[in-house]
Amino acid sequence: MPKEEVVGLQEENLRSLLTYVGRSSDFYKRKFEESGMAMDHIKGIRDLSKLPFTTKDELRLSQERFPPFGDYLAVPANQVRRIHRTAGTTGRPLYIALTEKDIGALCVSGARCVWAAGIRPGDRVMHCFNFCLYMGGYSDITFFEHAGVAVVPFGVGNSKLLVRTMKDVRARAIYCTPSYLRILSPLVKEELGIEPRDLGLKIAIISGEAGIQNPSYREEIENMWGLKTVDVYGMSDVLTAFASECEYRSGFHLLAPDYLLIELIDPTTGERKEIADGEVGEFVYTTLQKEGQPLIRYRSGDAVKIVGTDRCGCGRTGFRFIVSGRSDEMLAYKGVKAFPIAIQDAISVLKPDITGEIQLIAKGMPVESVTLKVEYEELRVESDRVEEMTTRIEDRVRQINGMTVRVELVATKDWKPVFTQTGKIKKLIRV
Ligand SMILES: [Zn+2]
Repeated sequence: MPKEEVVGLQEENLRSLLTYVGRSSDFYKRKFEESGMAMDHIKGIRDLSKLPFTTKDELRLSQERFPPFGDYLAVPANQVRRIHRTAGTTGRPLYIALTEKDIGALCVSGARCVWAAGIRPGDRVMHCFNFCLYMGGYSDITFFEHAGVAVVPFGVGNSKLLVRTMKDVRARAIYCTPSYLRILSPLVKEELGIEPRDLGLKIAIISGEAGIQNPSYREEIENMWGLKTVDVYGMSDVLTAFASECEYRSGFHLLAPDYLLIELIDPTTGERKEIADGEVGEFVYTTLQKEGQPLIRYRSGDAVKIVGTDRCGCGRTGFRFIVSGRSDEMLAYKGVKAFPIAIQDAISVLKPDITGEIQLIAKGMPVESVTLKVEYEELRVESDRVEEMTTRIEDRVRQINGMTVRVELVATKDWKPVFTQTGKIKKLIRV
């Protein structure tokens, strides 16, 4: 669709949203009254920046005062058809209430992502995310189904059975975090006595972790499994999947401009920035068609970079972006800020002596000390080299990331990944 048509559609959807919210959302009625801004002052996208942001803390407070869904629920509670909950990594989790229309929207948007990722009707996909309240569990299954895919709802755990099942059903793709593929690899060898690449998986649709944007990590996973990794992106309280890489993997394509209006802002000043090549900032989302819990100018905390505004090799127009991480995954220590993925990237030169897996243990708030645990291959590294490697990693993190950390090398046999309740692997652990 040409850009003008997309913008025209967004303008139209924005006007309907503002009318709807002005009528049905007590939260926004109150919020705009307090800010002295009437919603009919907003004539279009250009005026949107006159409206205040919505923050996660405001939504939390709203749910505390008006449990369980908050007074930003814009429909009678009996129209809610599905309830999820956010992971709550930065505080009290939020309940997500979806209406039938919202479920339809997530299916359409998610199916577009799956299509862009190279999945086609008739493919068999192993779904390996936790189901317990997490949106990436059941709801993501429904968009795979909407895409015409036979999805195997496996969840996490019981990896041996998973490996057997993917072989038995001849799965073409797997949907999981990148670190899960690393954990599965030795199990495939042990359980089936074959190399992971001989299993015949062609695509790994990646979600839930930022790691795959690290080129050396991507290469390692792809070589190990003989497949193509394609990253998909979303946010539970906005839309479970709304952006995906294509076969060119040159950044995320926004695949739901009819459902989602995105603004780029400077996270410090809150000023709107132009979406231009090379710009960095934070995304702010306005849900154009959400019925249950519509959100206006919702601060995502996503640190993003625009990596292209030209036509992609796949033919898609519109900007492309990468996500460095979520703000809650960013480590701030002694005035230096870094995402775990950047530290992982900085020390990847030591592969294959190290596996690439790390854990950052940040003590105190504000952070008083940081320990960087690094997994290493004990079969490759003699014990008398551990000390020298430790120093090398400390030096590298200081030089590349500007951060002074204490490094602790952990042998593969002793490495214990820490999972969040949604089944993602935690790289930053706050104690
Ligand atoms: Zn593309």
